Amino acid sequence: MIETNAYAAFDAKSPLRPFSFNRRDPGPGDVQIDVLYCGVCHSDLHQVRDEWQNATYPMVPGHEIVGRVVKVGASVTKFKAGETVGVGCFIGSCGKCPACKRGLEQYCEKGPLATYNGQEADGSATQGGYSTRIVVPEKFTLRIAATGRLDAIAPLLCAGITTWSPLKHWKVGKGSRVAVNGLGGLGHMGVKLAHALGAEVTLFSTSEKKKADAKRLGAHDFVVSANADAMGKVAGRFDFILDTVSAPHDLAALTSTLALDGTLVLLGVPPAPFALAPFNLIGKRRSVAGSLVGGIAETQEMLDFCATHKVTADVETIKMQDINAAYERMLKGDVRYRFSIDLGSLR
Ligand code: NAP
Ligand code: ZN
Ligand code: ZN
Repeated sequence: MIETNAYAAFDAKSPLRPFSFNRRDPGPGDVQIDVLYCGVCHSDLHQVRDEWQNATYPMVPGHEIVGRVVKVGASVTKFKAGETVGVGCFIGSCGKCPACKRGLEQYCEKGPLATYNGQEADGSATQGGYSTRIVVPEKFTLRIAATGRLDAIAPLLCAGITTWSPLKHWKVGKGSRVAVNGLGGLGHMGVKLAHALGAEVTLFSTSEKKKADAKRLGAHDFVVSANADAMGKVAGRFDFILDTVSAPHDLAALTSTLALDGTLVLLGVPPAPFALAPFNLIGKRRSVAGSLVGGIAETQEMLDFCATHKVTADVETIKMQDINAAYERMLKGDVRYRFSIDLGSLR
């Protein structure tokens, strides 16, 4: 057994606090990893507080993991001790269903095995990256080209791939007019990646506060989404919208900015359903779609693209002990633009 120090939630209402537990020894196909950094995703907060009504406790969150390989099982061929690797939102899938066969493990018909708040075949709970160590099957371990700050690479494992996958699926590139709604962890990666793919990017935000940052990150234009006049000026403009907002908001106002045949992709998961405005969609053959993280192959493709194009997250690196204050700031939209936990603070 591998002794592991972590921070866990014990119920939906209390702050996270220290927790020690044992991980399994690596099996023949496993990679044992010392966690170096773990990004803080808004999904961690939703799940810790049981906003999706599926929480199991104690829960060690964290699915934006970068670490160093300590040991590998006998049948592992892709990794060896000392290498830098990443782990994202899931660490298993059936491998046999049509989605898995297409490399879309996140849509596995049996359900992908979530990195935390998931259940292993033996019934034990999976525990995530707010911890010093993790053991992951080789197939779900990603290669990290060790260039750049690792704390700034960690958020690529969720915020990066979650924005990359729909940008690629909907073929965003040179000449595309893209809007990103919300400048948080996902939003700032969406701006950077859409810009790097050659698109013209507009940022929708709730206030003027992040305007200068949006431009610095690669946005060509900036619109305050609560300002009906400003939204009216961009009506019918965008081919594609990435909606990253984590709280309930006005979807009809957003879809009215889509062009003919434009698509809005929901990435944010507010706990309540949205209202759609049918005429608004019908009148310009607009689509509203959803997208869940990304498969292992496309995650590797995104990591390699980011290494080549020198794309990383803008991070504020924190100690594990600061996580509860970080959650409160995230709820206020006060993150520039991802917290990244230094797990050295737990060793
Ligand atoms: P985040 O860093 O907290 O960013 C969310 C942003 O949404 C905020 O920075 C803010 O941007 C905006 N916002 C917040 N409250 C708002 C409100 N009431 N009205 C309008 N805008 C508001 O969160 P994140 O980590 O990027 O995650 C965003 C959402 O995506 C979460 O729901 C998360 O669970 C979900 N998610 C989904 C997937 C997937 O696979 N689909 C993967 C990861 C995360 P401004 O300050 O610019 O207004
Ligand atoms: Zn996430
Ligand atoms: Zn499957």
